[in-house]
Amino acid sequence: MMSQSHRSTRVIAAAGLDEIISSLAREGYRVIGPRLRDDAIIYDEINSAADLPRGVLDEQSGGRYRTYREGEAYFGYVVGPSSWKRYLHPPRQVLWRADDGEGGVSIRAEPIAGERYAFLGVRSCELAAIATQDRVLMAGAYGDPHYAARRNGAFIVAVNCGRAAETCFCTSMGTGPRAHGGYDLALTEIVTGENAAFLVEAGSERGQSLIEGLSSREANDGDVEAAVQVAARAASQIKREIDREGLSELVKAKHDHPRWDDVAARCLNCANCTMVCPTCFCTTVEDVSELQSAATARVQRWESCFTTDFSYIHGGAVRSSPVSRYRQWLTHKLGTWHDQFGQSGCTGCGRCITWCPVGIDITEEAAALRGG
Ligand code: SF4
Ligand code: SF4
Repeated sequence: MMSQSHRSTRVIAAAGLDEIISSLAREGYRVIGPRLRDDAIIYDEINSAADLPRGVLDEQSGGRYRTYREGEAYFGYVVGPSSWKRYLHPPRQVLWRADDGEGGVSIRAEPIAGERYAFLGVRSCELAAIATQDRVLMAGAYGDPHYAARRNGAFIVAVNCGRAAETCFCTSMGTGPRAHGGYDLALTEIVTGENAAFLVEAGSERGQSLIEGLSSREANDGDVEAAVQVAARAASQIKREIDREGLSELVKAKHDHPRWDDVAARCLNCANCTMVCPTCFCTTVEDVSELQSAATARVQRWESCFTTDFSYIHGGAVRSSPVSRYRQWLTHKLGTWHDQFGQSGCTGCGRCITWCPVGIDITEEAAALRGG
């Protein structure tokens, strides 16, 4: 954190993106940012601004996603199927390894990786998702040391949204579209004709020190107003919403509502919604043996409350029906998450709507429960 008095607001040209990326790389960060791959925006390693999806926009609705080219913005897209959880809380994590050697069986905890990530292009709803996973995976007595090491070492460059997808509802969840903290640097892209410039704000001392090394000029009132208009444009495009008033108690009280049968009849139990969700954190473990040696490893991997195995205990699965699995997911996200972590498990990013093959929409389901 840094004091408000040290916060500087500067303007950089598009070339400043390369300065940011190379400065972070020089400081030993592995820079991860948006790239276009297989016609979707994903997060992967980037080496320069040329890797960014300049001029790529996306169109999203329930069960539908497509990208297309229009304009010159570097960050004109909204959010794709990737989220930063892929790096902070990766799909597979070795917990320990065991070898049966001459001295008997030895077990070694997996060392904490020293890799430091810099994330470029983190949206406001994604900052909220990272803060949510922090509460789950770092707070309390049972934190994940691998997560904590990656998280504490991460440098975050946020980008304020200038467009919203049809599936976004961050405004009603209080998470966007403008970032208000949780970043080292925040960029707002201001496109004029074929030129892009960025308003840059520091959110930490290390962000401030990075800004001081950039070719930049002081922001004037016109720059600040233009940045306000960028976020206002995104906010004005948001059509979906969730009414949060009393929602936590409401979803818990609707255990026997007929809507659960209705949504379960549509749900394929594919688990896409949980895989793309930036706050879903559930895992299982499996032991993986090497075929040519006496070595084995215990591996943590993402798991989903939509699988039957997830709730398997002695004698069978606790949630054996699709109804019980969808109800568990939504009730946890919007209800019991508050009891566990003091906040909602949903940030309004809309990914679960876009990437649900049958277009099930959490905002519609929440409204239907409220209505009946
Ligand atoms: S539940 Fe859906 S809208 Fe909410 S954070 Fe997860 S993926 Fe995003
Ligand atoms: S709600 Fe949609 S994405 Fe989630 S498990 Fe059901 S069909 Fe798959």
